[in-house]
Amino acid sequence: MKTPQQIARVKELALRRKLKKELLEEQEYPHCVTCAGTGFPLGLTLSHIIALSRGGKTSKTNCLIECITCHQKYEKHPERRGNGREF
Ligand SMILES: [Zn+2]
Repeated sequence: MKTPQQIARVKELALRRKLKKELLEEQEYPHCVTCAGTGFPLGLTLSHIIALSRGGKTSKTNCLIECITCHQKYEKHPERRGNGREF
């Protein structure tokens, strides 16, 4: 039996996977919207502009594709994210 928290976690992860795929499909080529790099060699990830812990949602308006380096670097400075992104 799964707890409601475990179920919510599984749903959140599925939503992130789906959103990451959607955002990547919108790009001409897969890249980090903050530094424009391809994310090599660590890869690209889904970043939350406003962290989930601060009430942010896993949605297109609150998420962007970033390389792991930018993801870690800007975790504490969300206002610097997505410089190259057109809103
Ligand atoms: Zn980057």
